[in-house]
Amino acid sequence: MIDELINNFEESRLEIDNGEIERLVSECVPPEHLEGIPFIKFDPQDSVFREDPDILGYYNTRTHEIHVNEHDRLEGQKGLKETVLHEIGHNAQRLIFEASPEVKNLWQDLYNASWNDPCNSFISGYAATDMEEDFSECYAFYKLDPDRLAMLCPEKYNFMRHYVFHEVGANFLPFPNPWDAFANWADGEIAMV
Ligand SMILES: [Zn+2]
Repeated sequence: MIDELINNFEESRLEIDNGEIERLVSECVPPEHLEGIPFIKFDPQDSVFREDPDILGYYNTRTHEIHVNEHDRLEGQKGLKETVLHEIGHNAQRLIFEASPEVKNLWQDLYNASWNDPCNSFISGYAATDMEEDFSECYAFYKLDPDRLAMLCPEKYNFMRHYVFHEVGANFLPFPNPWDAFANWADGEIAMV
């Protein structure tokens, strides 16, 4: 049960509670992405955060625990929710990549391509760190700011939609690369779509 996973968030100064994180997780995360996670804990006293207060959260790759640090007012509740989804994204990619090396290779290719292709760039500075962080950043943005992900990283948006969230259904439209549309429009060939 999701409510048993979520711990201690009422201690945040951001006036958020476990119930709100539970709602976020149940609305945004397919249950199979939570497999193996023993807990998601608001845990600013954790030694990792005490050593480096700039770390907002982490996923323990051995135990699959998720620890979340306090977020300041500027980052706000949205920042804290982003961190929770980002860390769950690390567990989701572990499961998805273990199940399918082909899907892992596909993601590696998308990550590599971002260094040369401004039309499929990185959704954040942190996403450029490596392919794992890129995945987790896109995972969180897919749910919290999908329009931005679709605009800046259309192929990664489609990857998330197809291989991660399996939301390709009747209403799926292949997402056009907006910059291609702009380039064509600039050439006077077609209007913006
Ligand atoms: Zn990460």
